[in-house]
Amino acid sequence: MTVQDKRATSVLSEIMSDHVFWRSLRQDLHAHPELGFEETRTSEIVAKLLAEDGIAVHRGLGGTGVVGTLKAGDGNRAIGLRADMDALAMPETADRPYKSTVEGKMHACGHDGHTVMLLAAARYLARTKDFSGTVHFIFQPAEEGRGGAKKMVEDGLFKLFPCDAVYGLHNMPGLAVDEMAVVEGPQLASSDSWRVTFRGTGTHGAKPHLGRDPVTASGHFIAALQTIVGRVVDPLQPAVVSACSVEAGDPNALNVIPDIVKIGGTARAYSPETRDQLEEEIGRLAHGMAASFGIEADYRFIRRIPPVVNATEPTQTALQAAETVFGEKVRTAFPPSTAGDDFAFFGHEVPGCYVWLGNGPAVDGALHHNTAYDFNDDAIGYGAAYWVRLTETELPVKTA
Ligand SMILES: [Zn+2]
Ligand SMILES: [Zn+2]
Repeated sequence: MTVQDKRATSVLSEIMSDHVFWRSLRQDLHAHPELGFEETRTSEIVAKLLAEDGIAVHRGLGGTGVVGTLKAGDGNRAIGLRADMDALAMPETADRPYKSTVEGKMHACGHDGHTVMLLAAARYLARTKDFSGTVHFIFQPAEEGRGGAKKMVEDGLFKLFPCDAVYGLHNMPGLAVDEMAVVEGPQLASSDSWRVTFRGTGTHGAKPHLGRDPVTASGHFIAALQTIVGRVVDPLQPAVVSACSVEAGDPNALNVIPDIVKIGGTARAYSPETRDQLEEEIGRLAHGMAASFGIEADYRFIRRIPPVVNATEPTQTALQAAETVFGEKVRTAFPPSTAGDDFAFFGHEVPGCYVWLGNGPAVDGALHHNTAYDFNDDAIGYGAAYWVRLTETELPVKTA
């Protein structure tokens, strides 16, 4: 064991003394996966366990969201710790005793483990109360693209439960369970959609001069799109612009130039500035290209999930806490993911830090969102101990 700090060693062994309970709860949640905003069984279990530990429970934010609030001492600082509860609409192919009992639904992202680790930390903190201030345990619904975090914020999460900092954690196959990556700056990309409609004047395919051809304009537009990343965005800032859908004309009418062409795609960035730039530049190209061909363009950029960017101060605190648990196995360099996490909506409201906890080697090559993926129960103690030490580090008891 590479645990360095005595305090963390005792936290870990205390939590591990209940390991059979936490592991069987994790496997029970795995066997009963629920999709975003439908986590009624899961949120019921969460609320019941928090209440049993004497933690104040608030339900209903974002529908199935649960917030547990625990105060200790007279500290006036408050923090939020986030776990997501939802599963994915996909079949589980691996055979395991606690395999999904629900057809077409599975915990393939390890949110079953996230839920249990935060519950284990809450129980420990409620028993020991070795901190001074307020901790909000935020169990969010619908992380997987259904907008759970945004809904909780809209429902007043940070008005009802003001936080000075907010923290997230995600399991990561490929890192050992006693490893954690805590990195300042961008962690996950923004994930936005865009749509362009070119409006020309349809005509006979043999008489293009009698109309205004939107098909040729859209071809130029798609080719020019890549100049945004190649010529406009700072070369040191990662960004992606992809056209993923094109609709025009009819394959049974090859002598007809259509009136309209619809194009749609995705845009990804790791900084709010680059994200703004992509929104502006795609529109500029669409309108500019339309003008040069004498047609019209409608443009819409649909902001879905902002990037997750770790703020300096909470990252320093998270690093300090992680070092007590993981010792020299804390990584401060780790490549950002091109996926998104709607924890970004929390981090947008309150300074935040999102860390990666090892899930052990990828078993049979199964990574997140694979039909054979599974959370590693050996990580429960480490993740819970991190939450505990983070709370104790963030909300220290003042010694006279
Ligand atoms: Zn996922
Ligand atoms: Zn996930």
